[in-house]
Amino acid sequence: MSSLAERFLQVNQKIEQACTEASRSADDVTLIVVTKNHPVQLVEDLLQIGARDFGENRDQEARPKAEHLLASGITARSDYRWHFVGQLQSNKVKSVLTYADYIHSLDRDSLLHELIKVTTRMQAEVPDFSAPGVFIQLNLTDDPGRGGIQPENIEPFADAVLAAGSLKLCGVMAVASLEGNSESDFERVYQVSQKLQRLAPHAKSISAGMSNDFEIAIRHGATHLRIGTAITGNR
Ligand SMILES: *Cc1c(COP(=O)(O)O)cnc(C)c1O
Repeated sequence: MSSLAERFLQVNQKIEQACTEASRSADDVTLIVVTKNHPVQLVEDLLQIGARDFGENRDQEARPKAEHLLASGITARSDYRWHFVGQLQSNKVKSVLTYADYIHSLDRDSLLHELIKVTTRMQAEVPDFSAPGVFIQLNLTDDPGRGGIQPENIEPFADAVLAAGSLKLCGVMAVASLEGNSESDFERVYQVSQKLQRLAPHAKSISAGMSNDFEIAIRHGATHLRIGTAITGNR
């Protein structure tokens, strides 16, 4: 059995190696450790060994963890970041925005409208408000009923995000559609990112790659890796 520290180190080494092979700087890649289904103690252990970015996919689980960490005073709030990576119901937006620095799962018009509504109000009322970073989640399947923006609709959707002064558009996010298909999926995500950057030059980030495919994602320009089990172990 390997320890958490060993797995964290090993994943970091693999990221560096994959970056070297792709002639990229590891500084341009952020490792988000997805801590869902694990107790807050795991987040504290990860902080101890140098992790600074954490991913969660359910508000009911994420918010108590975030509040615990904040109250524990274990480290300054400015030392770490929460990334919300799961499907976000509109009625949870207010809650998620109390702790999330980034939302990776902006996947539909109704969620965008709710985010704009809530952040616009916060901007007026909260003294130290800072706009949350958002990633537009892409739907890489042929089924429009699945969550996510169809790649061909990226431009009008991005325009609507950019029109909101209370959101910071970071880039695109995707989950590979099928096991074994990541290579072409991630290349497609890269192309959509290029298209987005012609519209929004600052929106360079690509959130792609999980435990099974992060090295492939790095080859295709991923800047934010969302890695769970390879580091946290199964649960
Ligand atoms: C759980 C999750 C991950 C991490 O998956 P692993 O296979 O455990 O690395 C990444 N992204 C999202 C959206 C997730 O829900």
